[in-house]
Amino acid sequence: MTQVISRFAPSTTGEAHPGTLLSALLVWLDARARGGTTVLRLEDLDRTRVKEAWADQIVNALAWLGLTWDATLVQSGRTTAHEAALDRLATMGRLYPCSCSRSDRAGGRRAPDGGWAYENTCRGTPLPPGGWRAVTDAVRVQLDDDRIELVDENGVDLSQTPAREMGDPIVRRRDGVIAYQLAVVVDDADAAITDVVRGRDIAPSTATQVILQRLLGLPVPRYRHHFLLLEASGQGKLAKLHGSIPFSLVRARYRGDELCGVLAQAAGIIDSAGPCTPDSLIARFDWSRVPKVDRVARWTGDLAIG
Ligand code: GLU
Repeated sequence: MTQVISRFAPSTTGEAHPGTLLSALLVWLDARARGGTTVLRLEDLDRTRVKEAWADQIVNALAWLGLTWDATLVQSGRTTAHEAALDRLATMGRLYPCSCSRSDRAGGRRAPDGGWAYENTCRGTPLPPGGWRAVTDAVRVQLDDDRIELVDENGVDLSQTPAREMGDPIVRRRDGVIAYQLAVVVDDADAAITDVVRGRDIAPSTATQVILQRLLGLPVPRYRHHFLLLEASGQGKLAKLHGSIPFSLVRARYRGDELCGVLAQAAGIIDSAGPCTPDSLIARFDWSRVPKVDRVARWTGDLAIG
């Protein structure tokens, strides 16, 4: 097997929380258990939502837990590569401006990610003479109508026809920000990522990313989507853990090795939660022990994962 190169790619759009740390631990153990290396990529492109203080806190929280990285990349430093990818797609005649708003799509067809599918309404609209740089609307990429057959390493079938089920993705937002779907494939390829391990919430985007990789002639990594920690989101509903258990709260209650034990137990790696380091878990790490269904996290003075 070729050398495993994996990455953890948190968006720096909020405080770290136990879900951030659980995901990082799983990415890191998966790579280290196979003798691989890990890259930390801080996803900070959404300048309307990111804060440097959150990036710093995420970096510190990961170190506090005992995770070290072979390299750290900051996504906002990758503009040249992102723009080069847009230039290539433009040369291929794939880019088009799109003036449709979210409300235009509302009430239409549901996409696999739970949002509204985009009906490729603006396909065929030419770029202005100045190219994609001169567009003041969003820029989308016209995908092939191919079906992507894809089963991830957890056995989850992610097959889709992204152009029809999701619609052509935005690659550059109306506010000029390079969109996630493009940045992620360009950055994974440039870092020679062989394995993408991430939360199940992103699984519906994977087929879109694979078809973009094909279009750009980039290699397709192995994918694995792990269970999430959830929180109550009102009206008896659950959502991906977000704001209810901030890192500041966790840090005031636990040492890093104690929280590592709590997370390792929640992930099925050890039978009872006791202080441990990520290093000490490498030899026993095995995906067959990791739950496949999401778990609910509550703060009761302790971190309770049900
Ligand atoms: N930045 C994304 C997030 O924090 C993850 C991107 C990825 O792993 O592909 O949800």
